[in-house]
Amino acid sequence: MTYYAEPITRLIKELSKLPGVGEKTASRFAFFVLNANKEYVESLVKSLIDVKEKIALCSKCFNLSDRNPCSICSNIARRDDIICVVEDVKDMAAIEKMGEFKGKYHILHGVLSPLKGIGPDDIKVNELMDRAKGNVIKEIILATNADMDGEATALYITKLLKKDGIVITRIATGVPIGSDLEYIDGATLKKAIEGRREM
Ligand SMILES: [Zn+2]
Repeated sequence: MTYYAEPITRLIKELSKLPGVGEKTASRFAFFVLNANKEYVESLVKSLIDVKEKIALCSKCFNLSDRNPCSICSNIARRDDIICVVEDVKDMAAIEKMGEFKGKYHILHGVLSPLKGIGPDDIKVNELMDRAKGNVIKEIILATNADMDGEATALYITKLLKKDGIVITRIATGVPIGSDLEYIDGATLKKAIEGRREM
């Protein structure tokens, strides 16, 4: 790496900080950028800056959005009385991609994990309680991942909300144990939501 001019070395160093990108891949990216036309590079830089400057959390569902409320929360064609609770925006995107769910979301931004020291105040669980206080929500679908922390979080939320007269459901076991929602195919995910059971 030291054989390259300083700006190239610096670019390789920055790119190799990306997840899953080692020095070899970073070098490939760096030389791709170096050989690309200026318009592409400017557009890439602008995209990078835009996501940092324009994207913020939706104040209702905590989706990452360039407007507040986000386009899902402000969509009047979607049901307000059914909320799908997911761990992160990638899981929400997986459900959206399936195109069947017509309710709204609540993104927790994590799951409870005593082993990692992640408690209720570290994720958007209190915010979910606040949303559930009104009389609007009739069903909450818990679509946290089917691993230990995801299950524990689903149980925790069930205990807190059960008394409020809201139907709490959990996505079906079509989702393999230990799996991340994000990587499940649309058909399985569709089945999992259709086959949800009451907690
Ligand atoms: Zn939203």
